[in-house]
Amino acid sequence: MEAEVSDPYILRTHLGTLECRLCLTLHTNEGSYLAHTQGKKHQTNLARRAAKENKEQALMITHPQGGGPMGVPKKQFLKIGRPGYNIKKIRDPSTNRLGLLFQIQLPEIAPNVKPVKRFMSSFEQRKEPINRAIQYFMVAAEPYETIAFAIPAREIVDVDEDPESTWEFWDPDTKSELSGTIKNGEFANRGPFLAFTCQFLFRN
Ligand SMILES: [Zn+2]
Repeated sequence: MEAEVSDPYILRTHLGTLECRLCLTLHTNEGSYLAHTQGKKHQTNLARRAAKENKEQALMITHPQGGGPMGVPKKQFLKIGRPGYNIKKIRDPSTNRLGLLFQIQLPEIAPNVKPVKRFMSSFEQRKEPINRAIQYFMVAAEPYETIAFAIPAREIVDVDEDPESTWEFWDPDTKSELSGTIKNGEFANRGPFLAFTCQFLFRN
């Protein structure tokens, strides 16, 4: 019987018995195992597992693939690909709010261009299936391709409510080393680079 080929939970032991790795139950033959998979215990565990995976997925940051969803008007620049980036999950100690800190490396940004950030709901874009669990955080900086990150579709704390919650830093003249900003981040000790840094917090 090959029916179990696509079942990720079946495990054949060296004794010839079958184990359900989801429920940790032992079965003497395939018939017994198949009956178990139709049973309440296995079905409940499957539902629990699916719910857990959904929850984990909602908290995950999806890194950008294939250009992102923003319909940027074409300008005079020849696009030079996506910039490098670093993302750090943060927690504001005073409010306990979770947030994200982005650092986008822009060593080749065009003169007099200031990076522009923007949030976009899943409903506004056309490139990916609509998913109400996510929104997009985007940074445009010519001549780079606009970069889009899928983030949880949670409400962002308004800057009027908490002026410290949201900020950005961009200084094209200094090529600053922002080691004080991302203390444990990957870029902390790599020396000066031109980067756009911004953070925001999610409402609790
Ligand atoms: Zn099972």
